[in-house]
Amino acid sequence: MTGSVVIAGLGPGSDALVTPEVRAALDAATDIIGYIPYVRRVAPRAGLTRHESDNRVEIDRARHALTLAAGGARVVVVSSGDPGVFAMASAVFEAVEHGERAWRELDVRVLPGITAMLAAAARVGAPLGHDFCAINLSDNLKPWALIEKRLRLAVEADFAMAFYNPRSASRPEGFVRALDVLRETCAPDRVMIFARAVCTPDEQITVRPLAEADPGMADMRTLVLVGSSATRLIPRKGAPFVYTPRSVPA
Ligand code: SAH
Repeated sequence: MTGSVVIAGLGPGSDALVTPEVRAALDAATDIIGYIPYVRRVAPRAGLTRHESDNRVEIDRARHALTLAAGGARVVVVSSGDPGVFAMASAVFEAVEHGERAWRELDVRVLPGITAMLAAAARVGAPLGHDFCAINLSDNLKPWALIEKRLRLAVEADFAMAFYNPRSASRPEGFVRALDVLRETCAPDRVMIFARAVCTPDEQITVRPLAEADPGMADMRTLVLVGSSATRLIPRKGAPFVYTPRSVPA
């Protein structure tokens, strides 16, 4: 029996948003590997070993998955959202590139999932209906100067933006600085959306103009969307619709 590594996205939180192909891969797995809360989203069963690991050990986790697969296991590495978006898929390929030659011949597949940005956008309307970009605000794996440069250029290009990992408890100052850059470069009525724990029982969606945005509105379970200069609100009873028109006049 030859082993395999499937890197699967579990979606933003609810079972309804786990794709059928991810469900089938989980059902066929002998081993599940991932960050503790994601592994716990997969129910225990006979014949399945769940390997929970802590955050920030992505390369060790990837090497573990490849080692098990080389021994014949059907391994599923789980990520939240999509595994290719600031998640485990790149870590596995990094481990393949720098690891044992034999790992290149393994059956390694990536199964997409619904990333937080898309789940959050869908909750409020269509803020990503025109050009947009996604930025990981964590400076774990890159210098803050690069984050700030990309942020400024994205504002200049008038992209709508999705911020992942906006604010960690250990380094809250990053998001404060990001808000400072936005305040310096955007109008005060620029639309911001704080989507916390989307598609989970703790979900909380807050829509505010930039002028009323507060760093405390974001934490590590929050995806922040920033509209482009064209993003609009449609006021109505209850929460407004938010959308970005598809076209920009010539
Ligand atoms: N691979 C994941 C992203 C991992 S980075 C994906 O595609 O969604 C972790 C960051 O994703 C968090 O800090 C947060 O910004 C965002 N995130 C993940 N799940 C979320 C959810 N259910 N609601 C809001 N944000 C979420």
